Amino acid sequence: SPPYIVCSFVFSCAQVSLGKVLKAVVVMRSLFIDRTIVRGFNENHYSADGKLDLWTKSQYQVFQKVTDHATTALLHYQLPQMPDVVVRSFMTWLRSYIKLFQSPCQRCGRFLQDGLPPTWRDFRTLEAFHDTCRM
Ligand SMILES: [Zn+2]
Repeated sequence: SPPYIVCSFVFSCAQVSLGKVLKAVVVMRSLFIDRTIVRGFNENHYSADGKLDLWTKSQYQVFQKVTDHATTALLHYQLPQMPDVVVRSFMTWLRSYIKLFQSPCQRCGRFLQDGLPPTWRDFRTLEAFHDTCRM
């Protein structure tokens, strides 16, 4: 049998930029995505001491909502036996936000509702919906 390997938890962070729309920090713990924080493309990912800021929310409601949806997406895509599939599926889902401000809602057909674009993306089809239009 193969030697028993003692694994320590390793955190690593990937920074994802989607054009002039948003950027995200994807925090990996070993092979698994632990957490994601989404901010506007012009917001700072770094704190005053030069460290990657993994906690401060975006000042914009739209990116706070996308961050919340990303947390839900991580729960949805969970497949403990296939972490590589999870990372790929999640990244594909996240990349669909490149059109955050260009995709009308697939239910009501509008761009803005209460001042916000459709911030939800269907996990399977990646279609855009307002938070309140997705039910
Ligand atoms: Zn809608």
